[in-house]
Amino acid sequence: MTFSGFKVVKEALTGYRGWGPLWRNPTPKPAYDVVIVGGGGHGLATAYYLAKRYNLRNVAVLEKGWIGSGNAGRNTTIIRSNYLLPGNQPFYELSMQLWENLEQETNFNSMVSQRGIINLFHSDGQRDAYRRRGNAMMISGAGARLLGPGELREMVPFLNFDNARFPIKGGLMQERAGTARHDGVVWGYARGADKLGVDIIQNCEVTGFRIEDGKMLGVETSRGYIGAGKVGVSVAGSSGRVMAYANRRLPIESHALQAFVSEGLKPVVPGVITFGAGHFYISQSDKGGLVFGGDIDGYNSYAQRGGLPVIEDVLEGGMALMPMIGRARLLRAWGGLVDMSMDGSPIIDRTDIDGLYFNGAWNYGGFKATPAAGLTFAHLLATDTPHDTATAFRFDRFNRGYVIDEKGVGAQPNLH
Ligand SMILES: Cc1cc2nc3c(=O)[nH]c(=O)nc-3n(C[C@H](O)[C@H](O)[C@H](O)COP(=O)(O)OP(=O)(O)OC[C@H]3O[C@@H](n4cnc5c(N)ncnc54)[C@H](O)[C@@H]3O)c2cc1C
Repeated sequence: MTFSGFKVVKEALTGYRGWGPLWRNPTPKPAYDVVIVGGGGHGLATAYYLAKRYNLRNVAVLEKGWIGSGNAGRNTTIIRSNYLLPGNQPFYELSMQLWENLEQETNFNSMVSQRGIINLFHSDGQRDAYRRRGNAMMISGAGARLLGPGELREMVPFLNFDNARFPIKGGLMQERAGTARHDGVVWGYARGADKLGVDIIQNCEVTGFRIEDGKMLGVETSRGYIGAGKVGVSVAGSSGRVMAYANRRLPIESHALQAFVSEGLKPVVPGVITFGAGHFYISQSDKGGLVFGGDIDGYNSYAQRGGLPVIEDVLEGGMALMPMIGRARLLRAWGGLVDMSMDGSPIIDRTDIDGLYFNGAWNYGGFKATPAAGLTFAHLLATDTPHDTATAFRFDRFNRGYVIDEKGVGAQPNLH
């Protein structure tokens, strides 16, 4: 089935009887060339690119719940490539370019909406830091624009510009940034991978690995043993738990991260806005809800829900930035489980176990990385060499001291 305007009109006229399921519901085979653990955006994108770009089609994605039930379906959907450091910038720019072509590539409406992001600054020092970042972004082709308070007041007049403590002095804008619909991304990659022969197996929890003489043989699951030539672990906040099945510890802490949506309102927030004097970011969904979030919950947890103190903290940030938000009613709040690394940057690498590969440590920001993480992890799985844009994301950086601390805040997961 190919989606097109013609197909939509045809279905509307014929009682919508021609829409089929987007992917099959296969029974697991005894063995696959590659097994991906985790049916989030990253796992599905990896399977898609393995099949599409590397012609590896005897592939399964094993998901313990339903696909997209983890962070992929719970995040605030911001996509951007406004990075400073050389280890990060080419990777996130690759991701942005893949976003820009995603819907054509997968023939699926993922609602990629390049409405721009504005990072606000509130001091002269912060302006200098953002100017430097903006220059790096322009050199790398990501594009950047420094906005003064006058231009900003015209674009987003509802902000609290004259806040006595944190006056808004301007913002750094990336016009190509924006949002994408999380479910649409998951479903688009799932459908694309399934069409190329990948088995997507839901309600199939990986409960252990079978490893002999340092070599991966397959995975134990809630639906029986499945053999695997290679296993790629892509389970976000569950990384520590799953890698413990191979007796490996990671430089990662898992934390709950909460998000919020208000009742539907008329269009008011034009793109994504981030507060530079607290942790608060906001955009408006196509349905009109204000979608926003802030800090992770401070304690380590594997629960997909957070606590009230952080809710209060995020809402205070919102009130400080745009007091009018106090007039909106909060519709829902929820939590996901994020994998926070000590330097705030990801890991895409082989492990010392032959046939076991790892993708994780995505911190606050792995949704925007979904296409590039999928492509580069697929490259690693298929070729055993890191993709050119992901050479910095290796385990050994923590041994060698070459951490990629984009914000320069040190080993403090909550600040990345
Ligand atoms: C509230 C919130 C807001 C966020 N906002 C943004 C944002 O605006 N922009 C951005 O770029 N990023 C954001 N993120 C981060 C982003 O969502 C994640 O980094 C990214 O989704 C992680 O990759 P994934 O999609 O593959 O993860 P997930 O969707 O979590 O996929 C992992 C999957 O593995 C499965 N799994 C776990 N254990 C097992 C097992 N043993 N066997 C089988 N399957 C298993 C899980 O069920 C899950 O479906 C946010 C995260 C949260 C929680």
